[in-house]
Order: sequence, then structure tokens, then C-alpha cells
Amino acid sequence: MSRYDLAVIGAGAAGMMCAGVAGQLGSRVLLLDHATRLGEKIRISGGGRCNFTNLHASPANFLSQNPHFCRSALARYTPQDFLDLLRRHGIAWHEKHKGQLFCNDSAEDIIAMLRAECAAGDVALRSGCTIQAVRRAGDDFEIDTTQGVFRSRQLVVATGGLSIPKIGATDFGYRLARQFGLHIIETRPALVPLTFPAEAWAPFAQLSGIALDCQLSTGAGKGKGSFREDLLLTHRGLSGPAILQISSYWQPGTAIAVDLLPDDDAVEWLLGEKQATRRHLNNVLAQRLPARLADAWCAMEGVSPTAPLGELPDKALRRLGERLNRWELRPSGSEGYRKAEVTLGGVDTRALSSATMMAESVPGLYMIGEVVDVTGWLGGYNFQWAWASAVAAARAAAAY
Ligand code: FAD
Repeated sequence: MSRYDLAVIGAGAAGMMCAGVAGQLGSRVLLLDHATRLGEKIRISGGGRCNFTNLHASPANFLSQNPHFCRSALARYTPQDFLDLLRRHGIAWHEKHKGQLFCNDSAEDIIAMLRAECAAGDVALRSGCTIQAVRRAGDDFEIDTTQGVFRSRQLVVATGGLSIPKIGATDFGYRLARQFGLHIIETRPALVPLTFPAEAWAPFAQLSGIALDCQLSTGAGKGKGSFREDLLLTHRGLSGPAILQISSYWQPGTAIAVDLLPDDDAVEWLLGEKQATRRHLNNVLAQRLPARLADAWCAMEGVSPTAPLGELPDKALRRLGERLNRWELRPSGSEGYRKAEVTLGGVDTRALSSATMMAESVPGLYMIGEVVDVTGWLGGYNFQWAWASAVAAARAAAAY
């Protein structure tokens, strides 16, 4: 039976990073994955260019029941550290929007880099390897797999979240955590499009494809989320960066407030236009909104789109303006794990060391990446958490 210093289960972003770093620090590392193609989420991320980090990543960009947990790992492995790694591998990148960094060529470059880092650390890789059981054997971990039984002094769980099951996501990490007595914070899909009952959405379904810059908010107090990004109308509901961001904060049964004119006080604007113009309502609205949405908006408000603005009572314009600045919507659900970019919740961090990712009650057992209850905003934050938590665990494991 082969014995290793460290076994890493899950060869995605966090697992490959952890294996490579620990191997290069001198540990004998085994990396296991049930998939045959490694790093599939990296491959499909960022539209194929992988939004691999965010220059502004800070604990404020993450959701967790234990919001300070991510602070230490993020401080000790920063976006600049990852950029140094890219520089050493000659990978070119660019900033797109709000500190989001993407590969110039392809997400495949990141996968190739992580593979090369694993090779430099002499990591033994077993892909297409199903894990059948994991148990304690003295101070070691014993892992039964379809490719044999392995032993390791330490074990890193890097099996990710539940999103996109068709490329290999499983609940393995949560089951293993429970087996070792760790608590799981309830999981749900996040960074996900939101849906509405078909009947309620019917007036908007025909507007599918319209995108506009909006301010979205939901929740209150510590659970409040507020984002200014593009909103996209779809056949089944809402999507686009604004909705993906707000979906992580949205609680089922509650409302989302959409400000369609975030730079304007719409009441003041409409009343001002009433004095200054003789145009029809829909033409005035179309100065600031896509024309098809302006028409649908009038219909929804029960106002004729071709009503001359000057003939509309102030009261009606006030109501219209207030609704443009605060359109309250109650989604009925989300597109689920099939479409979610990440999973909210996961292994409760209160049982882990924030410096090492090790379970306080199970010496040698580490949880890293998305399987942990740390979920980033859209924009490269989730990969930054994968890299940072992986490096924290790798350094601790190598020094163990
Ligand atoms: P993963 O990368 O998911 O890796 C988990 C690994 O564990 C996989 O290789 C899987 O095969 C393996 N595994 C699972 N179950 C088992 C099992 N039972 N036995 C053995 N192996 C197992 N984040 C960003 O920051 N920027 C982006 O641009 C971005 N784009 C995204 C686009 C999409 C479509 C999706 C779905 C996600 C995106 N994300 C993005 C999120 C990001 O991909 C994840 O947060 C990140 O990959 C998490 O890393 P991880 O290593 O924890 O998990």
C-alpha cells in the first residue's frame, strides 16, 4: 500500500494549487479526482478566459456565517501573489471591469500552469479515481478507491460545491465532513439567475434579451446586498451580473428592489419633462430606458404609452417615477445548481483554523476552496479564495 504525507481529494482550482505548493515544499503528495479531465470549472469559467482573481479582493467580498474567517488566508496569499505565479509561467492577462482579471488567451493556460506546478512538486496524480471510503487508521487516513488503497498522514478535502453536477460536482466533501463530525451550513445555489412564476412573468418574457444598468438591493442589516451592474431580462426571469450578485443575498420569499434609473430621481425628472416637453410618455421614457421596456412599463402601470406627458396628472407621474426608482420583485426561485456558479454554505468554518484550514477536532484533516462556507461575489473572488485557502493548507501541511 502506498503511503503519502498528504492526500488531496479533488483536483480543481484549490486541490491542484494545494498539491503543487505542498509538493514543492517537500511533502509527498497524492492528488485524487473522480473526473478524467481536471479543472473543468476553470476551463468553463469567465467565458473560457477564467476570471482568475480580483485586484480588490477583501473579506468584504465574501459571504459566510463567520465573516472574519477568510481574512487570514486572503491576507497571506494575495492577488499579487497569484500574478507573480502567472508571470513565472508567462501567462498574459488583462483587467476587464472593477478589478476583474482574465487570461488574454484561454482558461486552459491556468490549468496547464497548475498541472506544471504539480509536476514540479512531484505530485502523484490519479484521475478517473472514485473514492469509495475514507477512514482513520491510527494517526493516518486510509482511502479506498477504484485504483487501490492509499494511506496518508494528512488529508485535504477540495471537492468543491454542488453547482454544475454534469461536470462532476458532488456532495462528497459535505458527507466526509459530517463523517468526521463537522457541521455543514445549509447549502443553496448562488451566483444564479432568478425565476418568476410563468404567468407573472408573461409581460416581461417578450423583453428577453434586454440588458440595462441598474442598482439592485435586497435584505437588511448584515444580510443586505446592494450592487450596481447590468440586469438582463430572460424568458424565465432575470439574469446578468446584477442578479447573479444579488442572488447570493436573496432569501426565498423576500423581495428585490430594482432601481431602473440609478442616476436619477425619476419623479423629479418626469415632472421636469412635463414642463419642458410636449412629447409622448413612451418617447420620454425611451430617453433613459430601452424602448420596448418603456412600452411594457406603461402597459404595466396602466398608462397609455402615447399619452402626451403634459396631459398626465402629476400624481400618475409621481407613481410612475417612484416605481422606476423602486421596482419590487419577488422571485419564486432560482435556476438551481444546474446554472449556479457557486454554492452558498458548506463546511462550518467555526470548526476550522483560519490560519491553516485544519479541522480543530481532527488533526491532519483540512477543508479548502468552495466546499467551505466562504462564498465570493462574482468577479474572480471565488478563485482567489480557492488559491488562498489552498496555499494556507499546503504550507501548514508541509510544516506538520
Ligand atoms: P472545483 O474547482 O469545483 O473542483 C472540485 C474538484 O473535485 C473537481 O475536479 C471535481 O471533479 C472533484 N470532485 C468532486 N466530487 C468528487 C468526488 N466524489 N471524488 C473525487 N473528486 C471529486 N469563479 C471565479 O472566481 N471566476 C470565474 O470566472 C468563475 N467562473 C465560473 C463559471 C462557471 C460556469 C462556474 C460553474 C463557476 C465559476 N466560478 C468562477 C466559480 C469557481 O469555478 C469555483 O468557485 C472554484 O472552481 C472552486 O474551486 P474548488 O477547487 O473548491 O472546486
